[in-house]
Amino acid sequence: LQSKLPHVGTTIFTIMSKMAADHNAINLSQGYPGFDCFPYLQDLVTKYMNTAHNQYAPMTGVPSLRKRLADKTLSIHDVEYDADEEVTIVSGATEALNASITAVVRQGDEVILLEPAYDCYEPAVRLNGGVPVYVSLNVPDFSVDWNKVADAINPKTRLIMVNTPHNPGGYVWTQEDLNTLADLIRDKDIYIVSDDVYEHIVFEGKKHLPLFSHHELKERTFACGSFGKTFHITGWKIGYCLAPKALTEEFRKIHQFLTFSTVTPMQYALADYMEDPSRYLYLGHFYQEKRDLFCEGLKETGFSFTPTEGSFFQCVSYGHLSQESDFDLAVRMTKEIGVASIPTSVFYHDKRDHKILRFCFAKDDDVLEKALELLQKGI
Ligand code: PMP
Ligand code: GLN
Repeated sequence: LQSKLPHVGTTIFTIMSKMAADHNAINLSQGYPGFDCFPYLQDLVTKYMNTAHNQYAPMTGVPSLRKRLADKTLSIHDVEYDADEEVTIVSGATEALNASITAVVRQGDEVILLEPAYDCYEPAVRLNGGVPVYVSLNVPDFSVDWNKVADAINPKTRLIMVNTPHNPGGYVWTQEDLNTLADLIRDKDIYIVSDDVYEHIVFEGKKHLPLFSHHELKERTFACGSFGKTFHITGWKIGYCLAPKALTEEFRKIHQFLTFSTVTPMQYALADYMEDPSRYLYLGHFYQEKRDLFCEGLKETGFSFTPTEGSFFQCVSYGHLSQESDFDLAVRMTKEIGVASIPTSVFYHDKRDHKILRFCFAKDDDVLEKALELLQKGI
């Protein structure tokens, strides 16, 4: 079989997690919580499994969960989505992103990817015949260079991928970013797929501003989210897409033939669990304590860094300490120091090496302390 994705291999997350396991290293590479979800959420799943909620869910998602998402969006952002016609539950943000890209991109369409970019965007663009156009974010803060974005836009541009808070950089888009994007695409046939999976993990005075909070951008945006990050259930693979009716109609045509529907008892459980907003609104504070603990310890290592604004990732620069490639260093640190990380060059199409590593701090405090102790011995 001739590969449709000849340049794609095994993802760095699989590689580094396996290497961490093989070498008994602390795994701060792949992004997932090192702790479990709350028992009440598990009890709710059991309840629904034990009461015959085990057959196909509605294609669009369980109504009570769609309603919860619409209510949450209205109460936090004062933005309305119709729970029946504009909210869809899918199998992870990965599906939401893929279906949104598929809904928009045709042969030859250009798609702007802001690099470093999460790894699942580019293959989806290519499989739909799209042409990725890479625009690099500013280093080291990963803010957007709007002149570069403006230069990249042309009549073939059909889609811009946005990720805020950003993985791996943690940058949180500002109102000015939203306004500038709206100015740039006004009167153009350009859509936006917004990856908001870290929407509730934002620190200090910063606020997550979803693209749909800008009324012009809302009309063109597929907003993709994930319950995995918010409720410590990355293994459940449940996500969602909020989009205006016309966009949702196209999105659902794809979703219904990609997976048709998403795991049933978990959807009912999440709908009940989300009844109390404090069950997700605590997340920023919860992760900020972990970020602060991790950053405090990082000060005693040689790495240079600025505390991340959002997500559960902290990037560090080491170019002043070593000239090794970030991949080589991540491998050596896993094997010799006992701490696994992600080399950020993997998020660039040309594997550009800024000598920056990404650590995931969504771990128990004692695990973070042990990792810091190892890192403090130096690289
Ligand atoms: N987007 C980003 C930026 C991510 O970090 C991840 C990883 N969780 C995803 C999408 C995928 O989310 P899910 O596991 O819900 O498919
Ligand atoms: N989103 C996670 C990360 O950035 C990885 C998810 C995956 O392994 N696909 O580390």
